[in-house]
Amino acid sequence: MQHFFALIAFVLLSATFPASAQDEPIEVEGPLPQLSGLQAEVAQSVGDKQKLTQEIVDSLFSFSELGFQEFETQRYLTEILEDSGFTIERGVSGIPSSWWATWGSGKPVIALGSDVDGIPKSSQLPGVTYRQPMVEGAPGHGEGHNSGQAVNITAALAVKEIMERENLPGTIVLWPGIAEELVATKAWFARDGRYEGVDAVLFTHVDDEMNVSWGQPTGTGLISVEYTFHGVAAHGAVDPWKGKSALDAVELMNIAWNYRREHLHPLQRSHYVIVDGGDQPNVVPSEATVWYFIREMTADKIRENFAKLQRTAEGAAMMTDTTMSRRIVGAAYPRHFNKPIALAMYDNMRAVGMPEWSEDDQAFARAFQEFMEAEEVTGLRTELEPINEPLEIPESGGSDDIGDVSWNVPTVTMRFPSNIEGRTGHHWSSAIAMATPVAHKGATAGAKVLAATMLDLIQDESLVDDAWKYFREEQAPNETYVPFISDDDDPATEKNIRIMSEYKGRLQKFYYDPAKYDTYLEQLGIDYPQLTDPDAE
Ligand SMILES: [Zn+2]
Repeated sequence: MQHFFALIAFVLLSATFPASAQDEPIEVEGPLPQLSGLQAEVAQSVGDKQKLTQEIVDSLFSFSELGFQEFETQRYLTEILEDSGFTIERGVSGIPSSWWATWGSGKPVIALGSDVDGIPKSSQLPGVTYRQPMVEGAPGHGEGHNSGQAVNITAALAVKEIMERENLPGTIVLWPGIAEELVATKAWFARDGRYEGVDAVLFTHVDDEMNVSWGQPTGTGLISVEYTFHGVAAHGAVDPWKGKSALDAVELMNIAWNYRREHLHPLQRSHYVIVDGGDQPNVVPSEATVWYFIREMTADKIRENFAKLQRTAEGAAMMTDTTMSRRIVGAAYPRHFNKPIALAMYDNMRAVGMPEWSEDDQAFARAFQEFMEAEEVTGLRTELEPINEPLEIPESGGSDDIGDVSWNVPTVTMRFPSNIEGRTGHHWSSAIAMATPVAHKGATAGAKVLAATMLDLIQDESLVDDAWKYFREEQAPNETYVPFISDDDDPATEKNIRIMSEYKGRLQKFYYDPAKYDTYLEQLGIDYPQLTDPDAE
């Protein structure tokens, strides 16, 4: 049914929508485009590199690193890139786990980005359709950020070979989305001028479909902020009247915000965790910290709600005779993606098509969807959806700090099909497929599209010109980009140190060894697809 409606939407859109700045109709019907020339060659070359793609996907999965602590990931990926002739700079923007890899010279400068960090408590055995942590309580890739760098590196290496052979000018930059789950680095990269001189940013993100969009997509921007209250300790029973409880301030702030929610616009999203609520009950907490995400659809509304939150925190401090300090932990501007690049990329998606899934892959996906009690058990997608047009009615949801990049350089996010529909976000179910043939094939398909689009930008100067024309004339006039962070905001690089130090030793035993095992599933002894739990009664 879903596909039927998609088809109708497809026909209507293609009949009525002007396509580009030049008002040509969007070519989304009729015979599929074919890759030809160097684009066809590069797609072939990406296919030949699928072993490397699989090894990167599986290795990052096994590292299971949280934001700001992606040090195994950094070591492993920068070694591959260095061996391939890229110049590496580590620790950019004061973020020790980050890097910037550059190869080539001259224009165009194409920068490929993808996130690398995992999700707390989402450790999960891959290739099975039941809950089984690899290390109980440990982080895992419960979003699938282990796959995007495989897409980017495979594409970059294939394009680099062709550029060398054909003497094509251009510079390839590869950078990581560090701590994306904390939305805490890309605005810093942008603030520090990392995207100056870049002609286009091609960002990649895992999904269960292959697609790209332009304009503002579904989702929000945000400010991530911690409020710490400072009070006075006292004995909880002997002389509590001497104490000023910082935890009381946190609780009163949260109560006030939860009342306030009713009077905020329904598209907002806001949520918090108490990261420090004191030490033990008989000591009045002298310090307590609450961490908020404030999300809205526009930068102005984010600022408006942030100001309300700030007053709420001030009020809580006043009520408890405590003092309050605040720290910006992350920021993400609402995204705006580039139309000419999105259209060129979508053409390549149509030419490359969805991966050829095996019967095992489909059986795995269907069993997973049944296990997750998905509304529809459809298996893996085999067809492209129509290109994502800008939404006429804004739709709330998550954020990504690629938003800040998208206001500095023409940017698109390519979504590639390495995961299964029916999963829950930020949850172990999103990790189950992420070191299986589903993830590997999806990453290879994505890398073909990405490589072909890189060559489009390298070979066709007018595409870069059109991208900047759209950026300057259609995107920029509607918004003045004023970053949410200032020069005084330092990246929150201490985040997740404690969790990773607790689990790293145990996770190391599960690191993938490509020298010994063809795949990670083989190393783990999983007979893919494992559709039932052998330990279940
Ligand atoms: Zn993500």
